[in-house]
Amino acid sequence: MPKNNVYSSQKKKKTKSVEVKKKQTKPSVSGVETKKKDMLVAANWKMNPGEIALAKKLFLGVKEGMRKIKKTEVVVCPPFVYLDTLLDLYTGKKIGFGAQTCFSEKEGSYTGEVSAGMIQSLGARYVILGHSERRAMGETDKDVRERVQRVLEVGLTPIVCIGEHERDNDGKYLEVIKDQLQELFYGMSRDWMKNVIIAYEPIWAIGKSSNESVTPHALHETAIYIRKVLAGLFDKKSAISQTILYGGSVEPNNASELIDGTQVNGFLVGHASLESQDFLQIVEEVEKYAQR
Ligand code: PEP
Repeated sequence: MPKNNVYSSQKKKKTKSVEVKKKQTKPSVSGVETKKKDMLVAANWKMNPGEIALAKKLFLGVKEGMRKIKKTEVVVCPPFVYLDTLLDLYTGKKIGFGAQTCFSEKEGSYTGEVSAGMIQSLGARYVILGHSERRAMGETDKDVRERVQRVLEVGLTPIVCIGEHERDNDGKYLEVIKDQLQELFYGMSRDWMKNVIIAYEPIWAIGKSSNESVTPHALHETAIYIRKVLAGLFDKKSAISQTILYGGSVEPNNASELIDGTQVNGFLVGHASLESQDFLQIVEEVEKYAQR
């Protein structure tokens, strides 16, 4: 774990606007197209399934299918109350476990909240933060930033969600993405940023079907844009190596086109992670692009 503070400054930097060039096949921020990379697929079960027996069944299906997956890491994020039981069902290394949110305080009188330290003490390694469904319940960028800090401090990996409500033709959505990245990561030390996973989840694409998801071209452009903003906040090298996932109606039939050359390192999967076979098919598509 890095020795320095997670954030060196709380003040927001004014950065120049970042342009994204259309029809760019070799993005200048990376110089190489995504071919073989470290890949990760995370399952966001949300408030599903409805009882522990079904959660066990779903997990055991994923566990069984993971036998043939060699290089892609999978992270299962069940509801808090199932975490401990599912952790007990697995001793391997290919599947990690995560929570779907946590609170920023260490402990105390915060009824209903769960701390990063509690999640870490169970043996989970990830926490999804700033999901749009949490933001819709009132979570702000400031809340997310405080939670990211706490999660990193206890040694967990935050999967930090960003994404616009709608895609307009004037490119305002790019400003939304840039503002979110600045609010969340300005002042963070590069050493800590390496431990962060960004999940680009356009809200308009969440919970739909594969034909309403983002197009591969639009995803490619946005991933390049995110890396360019990160290059401004950190440096080009960190921006290139930053793990970025895509989430929003990834299903077995669009997983391949959304991973092929789009500059993302995997997916955050919602509804399709509730059927083990669908989820595993997505993981198998990602596996084709994974290296280890
Ligand atoms: C999500 O909400 O994180 C998500 C990706 O959902 P879905 O795959 O259902 O769009």
